[in-house]
Amino acid sequence: KTFKVAIDGPAGSGKSTIAKEIAKIFNLYYLDSGALYRAFGYFVKKMNFDLFNEDDIIKALKDFDIKIIDGEYYLGDEKLGMQIRTPEIGKAASIVAKNEKVRNKVNEILKSLSKIHNVVIDGRDIGTVVLPDADVKIFLTASIEERARRRYKELLEKGKNVNYEEIYKEIEKRDIADSTRDIAPLKPAEDAITVDTTGKDIKTVVDEISKIINK
Ligand code: C5P
Repeated sequence: KTFKVAIDGPAGSGKSTIAKEIAKIFNLYYLDSGALYRAFGYFVKKMNFDLFNEDDIIKALKDFDIKIIDGEYYLGDEKLGMQIRTPEIGKAASIVAKNEKVRNKVNEILKSLSKIHNVVIDGRDIGTVVLPDADVKIFLTASIEERARRRYKELLEKGKNVNYEEIYKEIEKRDIADSTRDIAPLKPAEDAITVDTTGKDIKTVVDEISKIINK
């Protein structure tokens, strides 16, 4: 049986940063479920398909050639990096993530990898839907101001031309969309431990979660 850690939470709560650190410390395979939704949203747009059209989504799912090699995500031969990190692709991801067939596809990829590797997976529904039997479930939160600030800094450091107000609104909208949708809404699993990261640095949060895992 493999060892599984689920880290869920809203946009900008620090999931991916924390999950990567946890992966290093505990020698786990890190999987970014949001990257799969982003990759699919990116692919649908690249094909000039309609994000809201069920037939287009089904066609896109047939041709969705996603691979994970050494922790890097590839769409066919295209290595996915900053092109899936834009607010536009974040929005596209959250639209396609409402589709049950898309969720099944992503979940299938995550579940099959977690059967052969010890994993830490970050997302919105990992503890609730994808890995209900995870050994450790963490729900990360932070105030919306702090989350917007982090996302703003991150994009700025990557040389993006960004606007704080826009990012704040975008995160607020995505929070509402992710937590009010019918299918796999963002919420802590009943047996998840909630960790509020507001005002805490990365090391503090990583230590806190490491202690939980070591218990
Ligand atoms: O975490 P990230 O911002 O990369 O996720 C992009 C979008 O993908 C989220 O806003 C959400 O709509 C969707 N998502 C999801 N379930 C997951 C991970 C991401 O619905 N497990």
